[in-house]
Amino acid sequence: MDFSDAKEEVRKAADIVEIIGQHVQLKKRGQNHVGLCPFHSERSPSFTVNQDKQIYHCFGCGRGGDVFTFWMEYHNLTFPQSLKDLAERYNIDLPRYRDAPAEREKTELKDQLFKINDLAADYLHAMLVKDVGGRPGRDYFSRRHISRETISAFRLGYAVNKWDGLVNYLKSKNISLDRGAKAGLIVPKKDGDYYDRFRGRIIFPIIDLNHKVIGFGGRILDDSLPKYINTPETPLYHKGDSLYGLDSAFKDIRERGLAIIVEGYMDMLVLRQHGISNVVATLGTALTSNQIRRLKGYTKEVVVLFDPDDAGRQAALKSFPLFLNGGISAKVLVLPQGEDPDSFVNRYGSDKFKELLEGATPIFDFYLDQALARMDAGVDGQIRVLSEVLPIFMDLEQGATKFLYVHRFSEKTEISEDIVWEELRRREDKRPERRDTSQLKRRFLSGQDSRKYGSDLQFLNLLVHYPETIDTFRDQEWELIVSDPEIIKIIRILMEKSPSGGDLDLNRIEESLDSPKAKEQLRRLLMSKPIYSDESVSQAVDEFVRKIARVKISQSFRKASAEGDIETLDRLIKAKQALDLPSREN
Ligand SMILES: [Zn+2]
Repeated sequence: MDFSDAKEEVRKAADIVEIIGQHVQLKKRGQNHVGLCPFHSERSPSFTVNQDKQIYHCFGCGRGGDVFTFWMEYHNLTFPQSLKDLAERYNIDLPRYRDAPAEREKTELKDQLFKINDLAADYLHAMLVKDVGGRPGRDYFSRRHISRETISAFRLGYAVNKWDGLVNYLKSKNISLDRGAKAGLIVPKKDGDYYDRFRGRIIFPIIDLNHKVIGFGGRILDDSLPKYINTPETPLYHKGDSLYGLDSAFKDIRERGLAIIVEGYMDMLVLRQHGISNVVATLGTALTSNQIRRLKGYTKEVVVLFDPDDAGRQAALKSFPLFLNGGISAKVLVLPQGEDPDSFVNRYGSDKFKELLEGATPIFDFYLDQALARMDAGVDGQIRVLSEVLPIFMDLEQGATKFLYVHRFSEKTEISEDIVWEELRRREDKRPERRDTSQLKRRFLSGQDSRKYGSDLQFLNLLVHYPETIDTFRDQEWELIVSDPEIIKIIRILMEKSPSGGDLDLNRIEESLDSPKAKEQLRRLLMSKPIYSDESVSQAVDEFVRKIARVKISQSFRKASAEGDIETLDRLIKAKQALDLPSREN
């Protein structure tokens, strides 16, 4: 069998839906399977896999190919490496592969770096478990209640506090030190010699989804800085692409439909040890969109654990847009003051921890709570919060989430939903207006109260000047769109005292009004000019009918969102969009 035969054999044996489906959640849609693209950020699926043709294509970013292309791009491997992986998977024998020199060099380099990393992991692990120099590491892990089993399952290690420990080990294994440096393990000196990058640190090997070591994280044991160092950029390791522990967690994450994200290596290990298997760590850096892209292939839901300090809160806030834009629903869990995951599970056990998880706050609410806690009283405070949150709303696609968020935002801040939508439309229409809060403030002040009152008056003005429109509203829930109790009273009486399709008997109406204020109101109105012209009356009626419908929808919205009824929400959004369409044209 020659090489292209082997390739063909693999192609026949491999099922692209199965291979991609391991890392991307795919759903059957017509002829195809679709899912969220693992190569770019998106919230609605444009990544499409075709089983008949055994190809995939993303209509969002344009990437695509066959099963080999996917394996190469997803796992950051060369073609020969991918062929080898897939051939092994399907028990297909490979002949020796003769490829172009450049390609061969790349493959050889990566293969070698994998091998060096593997040797280094063995060496560092041996140092930890049996070398005299590994004692500080052993003491540390035992203090943190990390078991022997965990140490061996995660291949934990210890880099002794020497400049040439690993250098000498690599030499003894006939490894070129230049390659050792390319793996990021040792560092060249000016005199052409090398020294160990990791010294006096416990070591966490970072392992990819094919169970190979791509890099290392090292944590210092005392208070010196930096607390963590990681492998620098290498052909195998790209900062911000991987999650610690994903290789051993992704199956559980998929099964449970939930991933728990923690900040530190130790947090992850401790939780694992307590039987919480769907947990990964961010490698001591802030969450990145690439990490979220990876996760969303296995789950639509994550809970992020942050430390209960300011830095933790800040990190949570920063991650907010990442989740929203990554199409993943995130909750935030902040542990009680003074606790980290490690101390918490050791003290209270994993059941208590799972209870906390259940009560995690949706990230938007967390965000809102934080914003509200900082919100000063009065209009200035409202304006600050509104201008802070508008850019985030703008980044959201129209859809259930956005309506829900605007709704909840307005509920919590007491800023009317109308104002939020209007500001959004204004910013979306002409982006260049900048963050000019003085303009916003002016609109805001003329808005809120007077706006509601103004809209009440408009409605009343219509009924008074065009009494024939009263019939239309008789059996509508018009009270929903009027907020001033005096005006509600007036309209009730208007409806009671006017015959169908007829003129107003103003005397009877005025008689029936019990408060002088209401009487005055009505008179002023009768004196005022009609707001609507004869031509615009039917349009105005239409608008108010629509407005009533809209309020009814948002009431149902509140109910459906309280009950988490996504289907009803979807239906309501479609209804609302249908309502919004014709009025937008004005
Ligand atoms: Zn894409």
